[in-house]
Amino acid sequence: MCQCCSIPEAPIPAAPVPQSKTEELRLEKLRELYPKPFVVHTSLVFNPINLNFEKNLSFEIDPAIGLITGVIERTGFDASVGENDLDLRKKVVLPGFVDAHTHIFLHSYDEADNAKQKRDESFVERVLRATNHCSSALLAGYTTYRDLGSEGMQEADANFRDAINRGIIPGPRLYVATKVLASVTGIMTHTENRIGGTRIAETSEACDGEVEIRKAVRRRLGMGCDVVKFFADYRKRVMRFPPATPHPYLSSVMFPPEIPNPDVILYTQEEMNVLCEEAASADCPVAAHCATNRAVQMASKAGVRTIEHAFWCDQKTLDIVKENKTIIVPTLSIAERLYGENFPSMLTKTYNAWKMGITQACGGDTGTFNHGENIREAELFRESGVPVEDTLRCLTFNGWLACGGHSTGRKFGWLAEGCAADIVAVDEDPRQNFGTLRKISFVMKDGKPYKMDGIKLF
Ligand SMILES: [Zn+2]
Repeated sequence: MCQCCSIPEAPIPAAPVPQSKTEELRLEKLRELYPKPFVVHTSLVFNPINLNFEKNLSFEIDPAIGLITGVIERTGFDASVGENDLDLRKKVVLPGFVDAHTHIFLHSYDEADNAKQKRDESFVERVLRATNHCSSALLAGYTTYRDLGSEGMQEADANFRDAINRGIIPGPRLYVATKVLASVTGIMTHTENRIGGTRIAETSEACDGEVEIRKAVRRRLGMGCDVVKFFADYRKRVMRFPPATPHPYLSSVMFPPEIPNPDVILYTQEEMNVLCEEAASADCPVAAHCATNRAVQMASKAGVRTIEHAFWCDQKTLDIVKENKTIIVPTLSIAERLYGENFPSMLTKTYNAWKMGITQACGGDTGTFNHGENIREAELFRESGVPVEDTLRCLTFNGWLACGGHSTGRKFGWLAEGCAADIVAVDEDPRQNFGTLRKISFVMKDGKPYKMDGIKLF
């Protein structure tokens, strides 16, 4: 077991020791491309493992491999700052942020609703927008995104991830789901016009029953997903009482029932079990979209790593989540926009889950509102009453756990030897002014600085 997260440890080399001649040559080549190792000096740095703000640490960084290779504990504020070193001693330093629920191919629903984006925007436009979204996120301090569904863009999220990892464009480290899984017609974007097969680009891959589900999981794995996402429930019966939106030129039907479009369960317990079992055999984490208590309970029992939304959890459901050590990503930022007067109950639930010791991660469903505004989720954790330090843990280390922890093959979300050199800095102490997180002054990802003194470097 590993000290940091009580999850069995996979063998990740902590220090960059070349194991063969080929690796040595590769490292040499990388050193030609990147500058030599350097040191980042700090005077106050947040440690999400022990929830302390630690003083006077210096981090040795090797940009050729993007890792922290050593941590030096200084005796005081003073440091001998070398020519290539970075001095963050007058700032407050944190690990790079993780947004655990994003959609790079979506922009704010205030600009265009989901169906319009899928229907009217070209593939190229959506890719270019995603490029901007990733820049904005990185400059806002987000060095990792768990991107849960390509929203009609098929497997383009996996290609996008690879483009970032090849250094072609700047952006957060992406963990992607490609297409999400749902039972037949479970989450399609509905349109009343089916003449000539009229349809909007599909978000999901339909699969029902053991054979299809195993096959769909295997297909997602083969297509390059980092996480398998499925819909445990959804507002499936929308065509029964079609609403005006997303078709503003059509009117709503008259006299709909009080709840015209309730969430319904999309899979049996056995189906969810099979889905998780198949993903587990490839050491791939599973994320489940769940709005209802029943869906949360079923998905948690099936062994998903994270529950997305979990809007209406009652105590019994939270008990089951705790028992199964499932992570909740409450997506408060989208809930705030959707649920108006019922929203305070979701803040209470988030606080109660924290009090019970349930692991939660900050993920806003970012993309339904603007990328770059991701910090809203952490602000809402604070509003719920979760303390600053715990909120910062949900924003960093717990994001790593949500992405799959050790199964990601990289350590990020905290700053120690062997971790990715993902470092952000702000000018004020978030314990005194949480709003300082909206003004990120410094961003480094994998040992490469992207923002310094508030100025973008790319
Ligand atoms: Zn989402």
